[in-house]
Amino acid sequence: MPERSESESRKLLRRLRDTLAEPGAGQARLDRITHIIADSMCTEVCSIYLFRDPETLELCATEGLNPDSVHQTRLRLGEGLVGRVAKSAVPVNTGNAPSERGFRYMPETGEEIYSSFLGVPIQRVGERLGVLVVQSKQARQFSDDELYALEVVAMVLAEMTELGAFVGDGEGIQPLHQNPVVFRGATGQEGTAEGRVWLHEPRVVVTNPVGDDPVAETRRLHEAMEELRQTVDAMMSAAEDTTAEHMQVLETYRMFANSRGWRRRMEEDIALGLSAEAAVEKEQSTARARLEQASDPYLRDRLHDLDDLSNRLLRLLTGQGRDTGAELPENPVLVARNIGPAELLEYGRKLKGVVLEEGSVGSHAAIVARALAIPLVIHAERITTEALNGDTILVDGDQGVVHLRPEDTVAAAFRDKIAMQTDAQKRYADLRDKPATSHCGTTVGLHMNAGLMADLPSLAGSGAEGVGLFRTELQFLIRNKVPRRGELAALYARVMDAAGGKRVVFRTLDIGSDKVLPYMKPQDEPNPAMGWRAIRVGLDKPGVMRMQLQALIRAANGRPLSVMFPFVAQMEEYRAGRAAVLDEIERERRLGHVLPETVEIGAMLETPSLAFAPRAFFEMCDFVSIGGNDLKQFFFAADRENERVRRRYDTLNVSFLSLIETIVERCAETGTPVSFCGEDAGRPVEALAFAAMGVRALSMRPASIGPVKHLIRRVSISEARQVIDVARAEGAQSVRPALMDWLARQDL
Ligand code: PEP
Ligand code: MG
Repeated sequence: MPERSESESRKLLRRLRDTLAEPGAGQARLDRITHIIADSMCTEVCSIYLFRDPETLELCATEGLNPDSVHQTRLRLGEGLVGRVAKSAVPVNTGNAPSERGFRYMPETGEEIYSSFLGVPIQRVGERLGVLVVQSKQARQFSDDELYALEVVAMVLAEMTELGAFVGDGEGIQPLHQNPVVFRGATGQEGTAEGRVWLHEPRVVVTNPVGDDPVAETRRLHEAMEELRQTVDAMMSAAEDTTAEHMQVLETYRMFANSRGWRRRMEEDIALGLSAEAAVEKEQSTARARLEQASDPYLRDRLHDLDDLSNRLLRLLTGQGRDTGAELPENPVLVARNIGPAELLEYGRKLKGVVLEEGSVGSHAAIVARALAIPLVIHAERITTEALNGDTILVDGDQGVVHLRPEDTVAAAFRDKIAMQTDAQKRYADLRDKPATSHCGTTVGLHMNAGLMADLPSLAGSGAEGVGLFRTELQFLIRNKVPRRGELAALYARVMDAAGGKRVVFRTLDIGSDKVLPYMKPQDEPNPAMGWRAIRVGLDKPGVMRMQLQALIRAANGRPLSVMFPFVAQMEEYRAGRAAVLDEIERERRLGHVLPETVEIGAMLETPSLAFAPRAFFEMCDFVSIGGNDLKQFFFAADRENERVRRRYDTLNVSFLSLIETIVERCAETGTPVSFCGEDAGRPVEALAFAAMGVRALSMRPASIGPVKHLIRRVSISEARQVIDVARAEGAQSVRPALMDWLARQDL
């Protein structure tokens, strides 16, 4: 076989493009393409295999193999050499195919007589479409030039928008991007939603993959790269006082933007006949496929950097912005790889749901989604490549499952579930003004958790007695510099106004470690959840904490003020925090400002150690609030953000309930009010168990108040306590089975 020259490649691409432009049925065109490629590459065989579903490839056109096997021969992902290429997205090039690992003999195609095999993935960025194969009888390895040329051809094929339709022939086969797909991710925020996909970052569409004038295309590439470099430089000088981590990302950007290797590969693609944008996309796909194999998280992060840069370059070359002119559909469900808190807030309550490929339970986006009460599923791998704008999508935040383009039966079942929840919410609305009083006469105070101004309207509708936890970090996270005291005071005042005289417990800033402020120097800590966070930061670097306390005092302006400190691990930390509040009040008094009517200062009990603090600690606290999310993770030594372990230990484990009981008893000794404000407070059975252990105030997301009240009003808390005590005495590990059984016996 002759060595290929650049002009031959360009000739081939032009022939392909002309064929693609011809009118005619899709299959005939695909057949013609395989003929042209085999002819141009001087091989006996050229075949195109396309994904018919994410696990199966189908032979869709061939020159040289038995034509009867078209749309008959199928391979599983990873099966045979074709399946191997599809799975790894890395080419296979061999002169002796039958001796290769995984070779599968397919008698129906008559392929055993072909010794050489060259297969390359057909892919758009991150989207695997199929495999392009050439084979020949002569036993020899294909040259690098030939491999390269075939990759370029595959790139052009990938841009054929109707490619997916070729798998549409035959019974029950669904073309790509029309088939239902289920994504199993993780819960970021509970709740369910049905809506239409809205891609946060729509894909750049390359309309012309073939470049006729390589000189002009190379010039376009150089100009775009120059512009990119300037953008990155501008980003770097604008980010002078940013975090080290952000700077590191920008440094990597600059490195890529200046990378000769990257540029050279794209120039070579253009020389072989691709347009500048197709060259960018081809290198992006190739790099992605290689790095996806990498287990090193650092390398994978670099993949994202390269992706971001390639996308910028594509936008420069095609002139396509993020705004494609598409309109937000009705009931939009945002689909993205990841999203920042500020961007998510901008969409706000318009969104019915959010689905992310990345994210974590504690990420800022998750915090915002929770504050907005929008169902959120995280870790929905590959959804951004599968979903198209406007696709029907069902988000099950309770299970962490997403159904894209669902079958009718699935959609119907899902709608039933939503309707049941809506009915239940209506029933709960009737309970709004009734107390959570159980059959035994015990009343539990139900409060809500909030973190944004936007949460406050739920206060009236939810039947909450007040805000038991106002997380103040959101205002800090969504800005790019420390908010000013005046701004914060105005915001806190508005929160108190909106609460209309109901109690709002403000928690001072819980940042540091994983919740890194964009403008704060990050600490490189091996175990940040147990690192320099919350009150530890507040006491070591008191500037921001003092400013926040001043803002709170000013916001109260003659009204009662409640403040609590997060993550107190020993008495002295609380004492110092409390002294800071009293100091600031004294300072305000000296300045002649109006002081709060009353001041309550509390501690969050989030570390087991604090349950065993000296009596003096409980005497000093005006109230204690159990931060169950953190308390539980440290009690069981199970990271709350680690999907592998976070559900491993039941909240109703007798050890945990005994800890809660101890805390309640310690507080009772000194008459210190105690509440529970972690996520578990919003789960009815858990809430009931806490009440049974003596907790008389719970704070939860607004939507949970109805279900919790509903259950408490229909049972006896003292009976629940008896059930728990019997289970404990019998040596149960968790009291859940006993409680569930007892509830079932009452038809609950
Ligand atoms: C908790 O830890 O239970 C809590 C309420 O605080 P956060 O979830 O904000 O850490
Ligand atoms: Mg906490």
